[in-house]
Amino acid sequence: MNTYAIALGSNLGDSQIILESALSRLDTVIARSSWYQTKAVTLPNHPPQPDYLNGCAILETELEPLELLANFQQIEAEFGRIRHQKWDARTLDLDILLLDDVIFQTEMLEIPHPRMSDRAFVLVPLVEIAPDWIHPGQNLSIKELVQSVDISGIRKL
Ligand code: ADP
Ligand code: MG
Repeated sequence: MNTYAIALGSNLGDSQIILESALSRLDTVIARSSWYQTKAVTLPNHPPQPDYLNGCAILETELEPLELLANFQQIEAEFGRIRHQKWDARTLDLDILLLDDVIFQTEMLEIPHPRMSDRAFVLVPLVEIAPDWIHPGQNLSIKELVQSVDISGIRKL
């Protein structure tokens, strides 16, 4: 059995309904965070975007990493996400953050998620449900990692 930490995000459409229905489509959810309203991260010189709704969950599943990624991309597609540009507004974004104490690196998929340690919108929900999970690349717990990010743009719903 594999235990994954995952991140969910949405900033288009009725985000809370989209995130709740995405969660209900996933394999055994053993924990879930609150939802947080967060400021969108945009590329320099790009127009501002609506705030995001973000949250995290812990899943238990027999799916292997690439199978779970395919499953996530299928669910993202069902919710009407159209890929334009990196960091465009999206109806649903599902990311894999952690898998047990595994480091998994392929071109298609990197676990731990390469940017999770810089992202307050990931770490703040994650620390609610997995404070003592050790990031295997950095050998720091989520509780420790969240102390080094700026959490000012993050508001619990
Ligand atoms: P982001 O989530 O960074 O905003 P996308 O959702 O558009 O960007 O994902 C771009 C690509 O990132 C996906 O096609 C996927 O193959 C790759 N990817 C690499 N590592 C991960 C991960 N841990 N979780 C989800 N996707 C990942
Ligand atoms: Mg993604």
